[in-house]
Order: sequence, then C-alpha cells, then structure tokens
Amino acid sequence: METILSIKDLNKNYGKIQAVKNLSFDIIKGNIYGILGPNGSGKSTTLGIILNVVNRTSGSFSWFNGNISTHKALKKVGAIIERPNFYPYMTARQNLQLICQIKGVSYDKINDTLETVNLFERKDDKFRTYSLGMKQRLAIASALLNDPEILILDEPTNGLDPQGIHEIRQIIKKIAENGTTILLASHLLDEVEKVCTHVIVLQKGEKLYSGRVETMVASNGIIEIKTEENIENTINVLKNYHETASVNVDGDLIIVQLENDISSATLNKYLFENNITISHLVKRKPSLEQQFLDLTNN
Ligand code: ADP
Ligand code: MG
Repeated sequence: METILSIKDLNKNYGKIQAVKNLSFDIIKGNIYGILGPNGSGKSTTLGIILNVVNRTSGSFSWFNGNISTHKALKKVGAIIERPNFYPYMTARQNLQLICQIKGVSYDKINDTLETVNLFERKDDKFRTYSLGMKQRLAIASALLNDPEILILDEPTNGLDPQGIHEIRQIIKKIAENGTTILLASHLLDEVEKVCTHVIVLQKGEKLYSGRVETMVASNGIIEIKTEENIENTINVLKNYHETASVNVDGDLIIVQLENDISSATLNKYLFENNITISHLVKRKPSLEQQFLDLTNN
C-alpha cells in the first residue's frame, strides 16, 4: 500500500472560525476518496491547504511519504479547485496546448485526455460553444495533462444537469480505473456513495467518520419488532441482550440497533427463550443517507 498523502492534526482558523479541526487521514494509492460534508464544513479549505494555496494554522501534511518537497510533489498532482480560465475564442485543443506550455509538459497527452473526457470529437470547437458540462470535462482534461498520480476535484458536478452529472461521474471512475488516485470534495451523499471507495465525513471542520464507503453503508443494521406483550418488559429484555446497541420506541414499533450483524432469527430465538413472542420482526440496514444524518445530527 503506497501512501500518496498523509494529513496529521491539521487545523485552520480564519479569525474566530475554526474551519478545520484536528483533521487526520491518509490517501492510499488506487482509491477514490470523497470528503463529504455540508457547505461550510471545511472541505475546500482542506483541499486548499494540501495544494499550498491556503496556509494552515497548525498540523502537518506530507505528499508521497515526505520524500520530496511539496513544490515537487504538486507537479504529480492534478487539481481543479476553482473553475479554470479558458479562452473562449480558442478551441479546446488550443486551450490545452496553452496549458501544456504553462505547465511545461509536452503536447503528448492532449489527445488521450480529450478522449478520456469524451471531447475528442469536439476538440476543434471553440470553448465558448461548450455547454457547462463540456467546460467542466475540459477542466478535468487540463488537470490530466501532466499525467498526475492523483486527481483532486472540488464539487465536480456542481451546477450540472443530471446528464452532465452522470457523465462526469463515469469519467471520474474511468480515470480511477486507469490507476489514478482520486480525491474529491462533495456535499452530495449520493455522489460519494456512487463514485467513491472511501469517505471522510466532515462536520464543522471535524472528522466524524472515515473508512470504506461500504462499511459506512453496511453498519450492523436494525431490527424492528412488534409485540403484544408488555412493552417495558420487552425493552428491558432487549436491553440486556449482548447483541443490542440501543433500543428505541417509534409508535408501536420497537427498534433495536445491533452491536453485531446478527440475523432476525437469532434475535427471535433470544426473545422466545425469554418468554416473549412477537408479531412482527424485520431487519433493515440504515441507508447511507440515514447514517450521514445520524452522524451530522450530533
Ligand atoms: P466547504 O468547502 O466545506 O463548503 P469551506 O472550507 O469553504 O467549506 O469553509 C469552511 C469554513 O471556513 C466556513 O465557515 C467558511 O465560511 C470559512 N471560510 C472559508 N474561507 C474563508 C476565508 N477566506 N476567510 C474567512 N472564512 C473563510
Ligand atoms: Mg467548498
């Protein structure tokens, strides 16, 4: 496992606002990371710090195991954190040629990157004729010209229509399949769920969760129960069960949050052994959305 980026105890204050608080996480090669959080949670600030455009207040980060300077490391990074300025009266290809000159890289990658973002057919059209989605795809192409190890995107689908959103997400996955590590920031839960392998959930600058997306999705779930028996007694029996994390009542439903991934039959057997018969028993996995809301409601 090769570490691309390691962030440790990062803090950023803007006057009294703590935009980033004690943030630590690692980016491992080959994965797609999503920094997920509502607006103002510190996503863009974090990206700005690691790209050396925002000064940190304290803490540290190191690129590629710290073997090279940040300045050199950033030559192996492709990033779009603001809408890049392209020249409206130049074609896509001419705009990319200009960026190659600025970055000091050869034109070799231009055709490949245009293919990657599905703009090869439109390469000789002027930028001003492009739709918003095409402009964003050209921005991604421009970030790929130096053949980066990692591509960093801040809210890559903002402002796009559903078709444009879908296309960008497909392109991000395609780029990752080609071996490029991805770090994106998004306030959209379903974006992270659909695109990313790993997630870092931020709230008010603090990390609430980091790990694989499936692990966040596949928590141990809940079991809903209805019973004709005495509710208080049933709740007590459930609370005494070692597989139970918590017990809540919602109308006539008793909701058991599980400590481990046990089956509804196992819970049924336990209740039966404690002389409780039930009239309804359903196991559910909370959606990522529910878990995100649970996390951010704290
Ligand atoms: P996100 O990208 O998650 O929406 P930001 O990183 O942009 O969040 O912002 C985090 C917090 O820092 C917010 O409270 C925001 O208002 C504040 N902030 C961001 N940039 C600045 C700045 N240049 N000056 C003052 N406050 C800022
Ligand atoms: Mg932002």
